[in-house]
Amino acid sequence: MLANALTRLDEAAAHLNIDSDVLEKLKFPRETTQVRLMIRMDDGSRKSFMAWRCRYDDTRGPTKGGIRFHPDASADEVETLAFWMTFKCAVMNLPYGGGKGAIKVDPHALSKAELERLSRAYIQAFSRIIGPDRDIPAPDVYTNSMIMGWMADEYSSIVGATTPAVITGKPIALGGSLGREDATARGGFYLIRRLAKELGLELGARVAVQGFGNAGQHIARLMAGDGYRVVAVSDSRGCLHNPAGLDVAAAIAAKKEGGLAALGQVKGNEWLPPEAAIGIDCDVLVPAALEDMIHKDNAEEVKAKIVLELANGPITPEADKLLAQRGIVVLPDILANAGGVTVSYFEWVQNRQGYYWTVEEVHQRLKAVMETEGWAIWQRSKELGITMRSAAYVHALARLAQAIEAHGTQQFFTA
Ligand code: NAD
Repeated sequence: MLANALTRLDEAAAHLNIDSDVLEKLKFPRETTQVRLMIRMDDGSRKSFMAWRCRYDDTRGPTKGGIRFHPDASADEVETLAFWMTFKCAVMNLPYGGGKGAIKVDPHALSKAELERLSRAYIQAFSRIIGPDRDIPAPDVYTNSMIMGWMADEYSSIVGATTPAVITGKPIALGGSLGREDATARGGFYLIRRLAKELGLELGARVAVQGFGNAGQHIARLMAGDGYRVVAVSDSRGCLHNPAGLDVAAAIAAKKEGGLAALGQVKGNEWLPPEAAIGIDCDVLVPAALEDMIHKDNAEEVKAKIVLELANGPITPEADKLLAQRGIVVLPDILANAGGVTVSYFEWVQNRQGYYWTVEEVHQRLKAVMETEGWAIWQRSKELGITMRSAAYVHALARLAQAIEAHGTQQFFTA
């Protein structure tokens, strides 16, 4: 996985005049720690779980990235995700490097008490690696604000001081930020709005959303509220389609109450298989489910002219090329879904200030960052005649290279 991800680095470097030292530094993770965690299960037995934390690069600041609980987690995956975080933070100009962590576990097979013991064990094992000025975790796949609360609490007990800034994505009651809940979708929404004229999007443009969880529901709500016509939303069970436009509030309510399928009976709506979402006739396709959903075998089905990648890595490299050949503009994940990490950064800033912002302040600051970086990347893509994805990597690499060079030959590393 990491070898594939690194091809982006070489592609971006071809557009910049940078020192080979920069590439040497970014080609390898700075440190990856592997630990076997041992916890007591509810039945009194002991069980062990493999866990990792990778600090890929800390040139631009403390490393930042989520912790994932997943049965398929691996060191390679953690390092690849940490590489992406390095670039995502640089794209948004956040004063962070990139990191990531994981535990190889099926969290659904644990009781709540076991999950809490495992989360605390992770912090006990990695307490010397993480820290508000060193490495700041956050939620990722199958981890949530409750788990971040336990983790922040465990870290605070270990260091003997309340330290909310060690972790983001916490419950509001423990120093979480307002506006984090819909930050990923909202960031993507501000980006689309900023570039609407350049992308040829007009009022009433049709949107299809694949994946109707946190990111998918919020983007559908925000875009419908702004006058876009949401013609399809899908989840792992099927795709709800109505060419005249769906009632998004009803779809969100149906999803909460037991499933989107119930709305398939409503006049004008139709209920299709989940894979239909990719080929829906629309102007903007929003993949907001899992990785690799658009691949070489279905890329030709895409009818949208714009793809807003709210999911991480939803388009395979082969499909990416096929879409580019057809002139489809892909707003890439490291920009389009970076609203989440940006509001995580705001949470860290508020924790350190001990002064908390209103939701309006969070929205206004997020909008400013998305618009500034989105516009700069758009201009770079036009100047260099490259895709928005390549332009985002070039934009990030230029910042990383400047920071690496500014450190001088005796590069300072945190201990
Ligand atoms: P989620 O678990 O809330 O929602 C995922 C949705 O995808 C679910 O509705 C699920 O039914 C659907 N899904 C699964 N398989 C599908 C399939 N084959 N076809 C259609 N739908 C399918 O997750 P989320 O938090 O909304 O995250 C979605 C994506 O966005 C992930 O790639 C995640 O990494 C990325 N992302 C999320 C955030 C965030 O803040 N939530 C931040 C950055 C990136």
